[in-house]
Amino acid sequence: MLRLDRATKDYPGGVRALDAASLVIEAGELVGIVGPSGSGKSTLLNLMGTLDRPSSGTVAVRDQDVDSLNDRELSALRAREIGFVFQQFQLIEGLSAAQNVATGLLYAGVPRGSRRPLAEAALDRVGLAHRRDHQPHQLSGGEKQRVAIARALVNDPALVLADEPTGALDTANGRAILALLRALNQAGTTIALITHDRQIADELPRRVEILDGRIRSDEVLGAPMAASLAGQGGSGA
Ligand code: ADP
Repeated sequence: MLRLDRATKDYPGGVRALDAASLVIEAGELVGIVGPSGSGKSTLLNLMGTLDRPSSGTVAVRDQDVDSLNDRELSALRAREIGFVFQQFQLIEGLSAAQNVATGLLYAGVPRGSRRPLAEAALDRVGLAHRRDHQPHQLSGGEKQRVAIARALVNDPALVLADEPTGALDTANGRAILALLRALNQAGTTIALITHDRQIADELPRRVEILDGRIRSDEVLGAPMAASLAGQGGSGA
């Protein structure tokens, strides 16, 4: 699904935000990316989501090397294969929940007449069919994040990337969003989610820990991922 091979990101001013990160995510996985603030999590997610290109190393989505695509091809790949969920929901005020979800189809070449039914089906998947005509300001934080998740899912992407999806929610709503993401994963969606919440991370089937731009550990149900450690020049496994 996704492969990073020694991906490095340097920002102007000599900041190395990501340092030779190697990571493979297979279809059907649910992966948590953990680490303190400033460790490079968002940089990693931006590379995974093809929103940014690595300074060196490679990123491939579904075996398509990001480097081999021009910006237009990259946007098309992103629209087709990747859904994004953000901490602050990023819904558009003035549009209903269904219209917000339909914006997830704008760049995917879906005919206008098909957008509304697809948006309503996605809202139904997140349990919000009854809120489809509500505006964002009429929704709770948890509901807004459900709308944002429906928008990420509406085009049936191969991969959903979530950047602190519970970070702006209270504990109960955060847990409900996590339960929803787990259910979607069990139904087949591949998900990578950033969190600095240890408790959430500890419940995920795979955890990638990042510190100072480097992947420090990669564990599946308590066992280290041999391939990723080898990519880091780790234990030699
Ligand atoms: P996290 O998501 O873990 O908080 P980030 O990926 O946002 O970490 O940032 C990693 C490092 O890169 C930090 O030191 C941050 O200040 C720096 N950084 C992030 N974005 C930029 C940018 N656009 N320009 C310069 N430095 C940046």
